[in-house]
Amino acid sequence: MAVTMICPNLKCGRTVVAAEAARGKVVRCAHCQILFLVPRDARSTGEGAPAEPPPAQPEDTKRRGRR
Ligand SMILES: [Zn+2]
Repeated sequence: MAVTMICPNLKCGRTVVAAEAARGKVVRCAHCQILFLVPRDARSTGEGAPAEPPPAQPEDTKRRGRR
């Protein structure tokens, strides 16, 4: 498995793939050579946008069954 991150260097911004074992450690961006920390809770490869819980909907809608 691998951890995919975006390079924190704004001038670079490339995708950086680090090994799972690199979590919590410093890695080097292969593109711009800067060093940065791999967050421990970084998502693994293949994850898209973070899942957001849907906003709570009022149950009123169901009861409005007027005819
Ligand atoms: Zn970079």
